[in-house]
Amino acid sequence: MAMVPISGRDCEGCTACCSFPPIHAPELQKPANTLCGHCVAGQGCTVYEARPTVCRGFFCGWFFLPELGPEWHPRQSGVVIRSESFGDDTITLLILDLTAFLVSEDFAGMIGAWVEQGVGVEFERLGPPGHLPAKMRMNELLEEAVAARDLRAMHKVFAWSLSHIDNSHAWERDETEPRSALG
Ligand code: SF4
Ligand code: SF4
Repeated sequence: MAMVPISGRDCEGCTACCSFPPIHAPELQKPANTLCGHCVAGQGCTVYEARPTVCRGFFCGWFFLPELGPEWHPRQSGVVIRSESFGDDTITLLILDLTAFLVSEDFAGMIGAWVEQGVGVEFERLGPPGHLPAKMRMNELLEEAVAARDLRAMHKVFAWSLSHIDNSHAWERDETEPRSALG
């Protein structure tokens, strides 16, 4: 997969990256699923010029996959594609919000195409604030429904897997102590 951000793509006010990941930079630490103390709703980063390298260099998968239409933008879809997993030939979809997009043909069609291409597909959900996320591999669960082109069966698997993660996972605490030397 190409790792050059597609020209013209933009965060468009999304600040998900300032909240969901744990950050362990020398100048900034924060646990998973907590908003960075330097992020202000509607404004974004208040230490933009001094933000750590990890913040400068991160782009979600929306920036790299030309096959994704505008409906896949994290602000619209509630889905953040984790570009960190691309090296393992896997696409990890962090499902932030249970939006109508998850039961759309666009979503199922793209997931089905990845499964058919042999790309690993994982669904991920956030834990409670200050806890690590959890994910589930989807390929084997979806194989039959994808082969049958059965959207309804795919949607059932999506719903089951998300509910299973939310209700059955033993969420692990992220012990990272929030700390910032950025003022
Ligand atoms: S999830 Fe994507 S669009 Fe949202 S802030 Fe992060 S890089 Fe930008
Ligand atoms: S330092 Fe700025 S860019 Fe980095 S997580 Fe905090 S608010 Fe977001």
